[in-house]
Amino acid sequence: MTTDAKSVLLLHAGGTLGMLPGPDGRWAPSPGALARAVAEMPELHDAEMPQVTVVELDPLLDSAEMRPSDWRRIAETIRDRLGGHAGCVVVHGTDTLAYTASALSFLLEELDRPVIVTGSQIPLVRARTDARENLVAALQLATDPRLAEVATYLHGDLLRGNRATKVSATGFGAFASPNLPPLAEVGADLVWNRELLLPKGSGALRCAPLSSVPVVALRLFPGIDGTVVRRVLDRPVRGLVLETYGTGNGPGRDRDLIAALSEATERGVVVTAVTQCLRGGVDMERYASAGPLLDAGVLPGGDMTAEAALTKLLVLCSRHDDPGRVRAGMTADLRGERTVAAARAFGPA
Ligand code: ASP
Repeated sequence: MTTDAKSVLLLHAGGTLGMLPGPDGRWAPSPGALARAVAEMPELHDAEMPQVTVVELDPLLDSAEMRPSDWRRIAETIRDRLGGHAGCVVVHGTDTLAYTASALSFLLEELDRPVIVTGSQIPLVRARTDARENLVAALQLATDPRLAEVATYLHGDLLRGNRATKVSATGFGAFASPNLPPLAEVGADLVWNRELLLPKGSGALRCAPLSSVPVVALRLFPGIDGTVVRRVLDRPVRGLVLETYGTGNGPGRDRDLIAALSEATERGVVVTAVTQCLRGGVDMERYASAGPLLDAGVLPGGDMTAEAALTKLLVLCSRHDDPGRVRAGMTADLRGERTVAAARAFGPA
C-alpha cells in the first residue's frame, strides 16, 4: 500500500460527534453535517494538520443501532479506501465504540498503519464540545508511523482498541483500558508506551470473513439456573461469552446449570469465561466454585474485556466450523487483546 504521510481517511460511521438536534430536540445523525463542520474548522486547515478525505457511511448510525454487519462495512471501507493515506480515523458513537474497535482489530489483517476510532460526548457543532480536541488529536495520531493497529482516542488517552471499554455515560474521559496502560498519553507532551505497540503488518490489508453466526453473551447473576442457560444456549447458538464473578467463579454447586453448560460444550458450543470486574482476569484454578465450570468445558478468557471476547468469538466462528479451532483461537493472544503473562498467572490459557 502506498502512503501520503500528510493525508488521513476520515470515515464517518455516526455517533454524537457528527450529530445535530432532530425535530424532537434529540440528537441524531445528520448526513453531510460532519463534512460541512470539518470544512469550516480552522484547526483542520493549520499547517500542522494532515489533509483529510471524508467518507460518510450510509446510513449514519447512532452506535446503539449497530450490528456486526456494520463492523464489516466499516472494515471493508477501510480496506478499500485506506491506500494512499497515512492512516484512518473512524468517527463513531461511544455507546458501542469498544465493540467496533475490538471487531476491527480482529477483522483487519496485515495492517501497517493507524486506525483510530474516536467519538465524543457532545456534538462538534456545540460550543462546549469535546469533539474538537478528540478529532484534532486523532487526526494527528493517525499520521504517526509508529502505530500500526486499531486504537481508540478520547480525552487524552490512546488505547488499544480491543482493551477499551466505556466507563462513563457522560464524562469526557468515557473510556478506560483497565488491563493495559494507554498506548500513548496526549497532554502538553505526547508520551508513548512504545513497548506496548503491536508490530507492523505487511500492508497487504485484508478483511477476515464475518458472517451472522449466532453468538451470545450472558452475565451471571445470583439466581440464574439451568433453564435460563439452556434457553440462551439453544441451537443454533455456536458461542457464548459468560460473564462470571471475580476470577471466573460461578454457581458451581448448581448441578443443573453445570449440566446445561456441559451439554452445550459437548455439542460444540464454545463458551469463554470473562470477569464482570473492571480490572483483572479469570483464574479458574483459584476457587472450588470455578472448578465445575472448567470441567464443563468453559474456557478461561484471561483478562479480555467482554467486548473483545464477543467480537473475537464472532470472527473465529465466522472463519472456522470446527469448534476446536475456535477454542484454540479464543485462548490465544491474537491482537494483544489478552495479557499472555497475566493469563498464565490467572490460570491456564
Ligand atoms: N448514542 C451515541 C452513540 O453511541 C452516544 C455517543 O456517541 O456518545 O452513537
